[in-house]
Amino acid sequence: MKRLWACLFAVCVLLAGCGGEAAEKQRRDFFAMDTYMTMTAYGPHAEEAMKEAEARIRELEEELSVTREESNIYRMNHRTNESVLLGADAAEAVGAALRIARETGGALDPTIYPVVEAWGFTKDQQQVPSEEALREALARTGWQRAHLTERTLTLEPGMEIDLGAVGKGFAGREAGKVLRDRGVTSAIVSLGGNIEAVGARPDGTPWRVGFRAPDGEGYAGMLSVEDAAVVTSGSYERYFTDENGRRWHHIIDPATGHPAENGLLSVTVVGRDGLSCDGLSTALFVMGKENAAAYWRAHHDFDMILIEEGRRVTVTEGLAERFALRGEYTKGPLEVLRR
Ligand code: ADP
Ligand code: MG
Repeated sequence: MKRLWACLFAVCVLLAGCGGEAAEKQRRDFFAMDTYMTMTAYGPHAEEAMKEAEARIRELEEELSVTREESNIYRMNHRTNESVLLGADAAEAVGAALRIARETGGALDPTIYPVVEAWGFTKDQQQVPSEEALREALARTGWQRAHLTERTLTLEPGMEIDLGAVGKGFAGREAGKVLRDRGVTSAIVSLGGNIEAVGARPDGTPWRVGFRAPDGEGYAGMLSVEDAAVVTSGSYERYFTDENGRRWHHIIDPATGHPAENGLLSVTVVGRDGLSCDGLSTALFVMGKENAAAYWRAHHDFDMILIEEGRRVTVTEGLAERFALRGEYTKGPLEVLRR
């Protein structure tokens, strides 16, 4: 079976044009949560603050990982009792994931792990599972059968939990919090393409985030942001190709157990809370454009950018003035959703 594992970051930060303050600029690169992370911060507290922010991300990684034996989530998935007492961070992440699961009719499902395992995405041994294997895995999922009371999580036998869909957004939010608490007013954190922007650039202009074209080289668009999380779920970030040349990506529709297929190539959610933005980007990707638009109309705390096949781009009205198409994409339409 021919396999391909792609991990192309959907978005990247453009730092050009921040001259002048170059002397104050500090950068920190590291690998955590299975992805490359980069922080750039300005000002006298930058270096120390970024060190602490990295430590906070590593702390979250340890608590939320599905594979580290000491993590809360590993303990949950290898439990002997049906209930486990989680640490505060894991409890917050599970609580947020279950809330979004409820609000999106289960498009996000933090108990989808058995299905993700059946597709081999957890071990980098991707395969198309048999219908029987998929049925067996699906029978062990269902967010309604996961119960969180304060910090105690209860799952039914055979069920497992996975915070892969919210972890990086949570980590970005927490890194931003550490930086702000340490007095940093201008910084940008990229967690494998998921962005947490602290303040604006040192010259007062917004941070500029570039969106890679899902179908090729270069950029599809550019977004200006200040004090916001920018979190993307895309089908072109992680996928494999089977022996028939068919592509299968890693975002599962919990209703079918198959990767979501609805014409969307990526969903980017822009908002204040990186944790919610991350959960939502995965859920809205599963829901498809129409349902995502309806959800956005009913919830007023985020904006989004949808890229569909055929180079069709849609942005919600809050971003209309801050987003511009680039390259080949300027030939296509830019639809603005309004409430
Ligand atoms: P990434 O983490 O690659 O940036 P996402 O935030 O969209 O992308 O999360 C995708 C990951 O979440 C998958 O790798 C898988 O572990 C898990 N996952 C896949 N589908 C779902 C789903 N419907 N609900 C919850 N988690 C999911
Ligand atoms: Mg997500």
